[in-house]
Amino acid sequence: MTSAFVTRDGSTWMPEYLTAIEGTTCIGCGRCFKICSREVMHLYGVDDAGEILGISKGQDDDFDGELNRMVMVVDHAGRCVGCGACSRVCPKNCQTHIAADKVVA
Ligand code: SF4
Ligand code: SF4
Repeated sequence: MTSAFVTRDGSTWMPEYLTAIEGTTCIGCGRCFKICSREVMHLYGVDDAGEILGISKGQDDDFDGELNRMVMVVDHAGRCVGCGACSRVCPKNCQTHIAADKVVA
């Protein structure tokens, strides 16, 4: 229901929720994580075969030598408020957002 979303001054506002990040395109730069206030996504390690190793515990976490690269993963999609900030800072255009009026309840 589109009319349910308004800004403080009553203007119509359509949230654009982050639903996915393309792991083959993401460079794990962390910009989206830093700008998001809702902890919707986190950095995960990926091995040489492209398999997700798990959530990163910090900059020095090399997953026992298995780490090839880092990617951002949307692991708490339900926390997103649809502000769109993450899409504006992403240098790789690898995020998928969905308008609130297109979300299936
Ligand atoms: S749209 Fe806003 S709240 Fe949602 S993941 Fe992006 S920065 Fe976070
Ligand atoms: S800003 Fe884009 S490229 Fe950087 S970690 Fe987020 S999704 Fe990946």
